[in-house]
Amino acid sequence: MFGYFPNDYVDSPYSIDYHKLWQAGFRLLLFDIDNTLVPHGADGTPESLALLKRVEKMGFKVILISNNNNDRILRFLQGEEIEYIAEADKPDPGAILKAMNVSGVGKEQAIMIGDTTHTDILAANRSGISSILVKYIGYDSTERKGIRRTIEKFMLHFFPIFRKPTLFR
Ligand SMILES: [Mg+2]
Repeated sequence: MFGYFPNDYVDSPYSIDYHKLWQAGFRLLLFDIDNTLVPHGADGTPESLALLKRVEKMGFKVILISNNNNDRILRFLQGEEIEYIAEADKPDPGAILKAMNVSGVGKEQAIMIGDTTHTDILAANRSGISSILVKYIGYDSTERKGIRRTIEKFMLHFFPIFRKPTLFR
């Protein structure tokens, strides 16, 4: 069960203090795309692409880690050159380990940012890196959610109790 808990839980990737992450020693940001940066399957927006460019400018290495396919990621990128791993198969930790390998950073310098506990956060915990869970896009809508989201929501009630000691919160 602890494998499903992130280091932090925030509203959105747009509300994260990336300077704090930098000061805490992080150098590699791994982003999920669908329901994290944009709604599921949506094209990249000026806001989402600007965020990725902004953190790259700060010095972070940025790699998108998506379970979705190559075509979908290219559509998100809108021609921007940002590294990515498609069909990542999260919660398998393989893609995260590969991303750390190619960027030459250690476990304590990498952090996964995503909207789903049973894929993004579990993969991060399995690979030994930190993670930030964001509220999935559409969280506040009244639309009926699936069973996994319901379990996730229930579990996150315990987040304040099970939160891990963290440098950046
Ligand atoms: Mg997602």
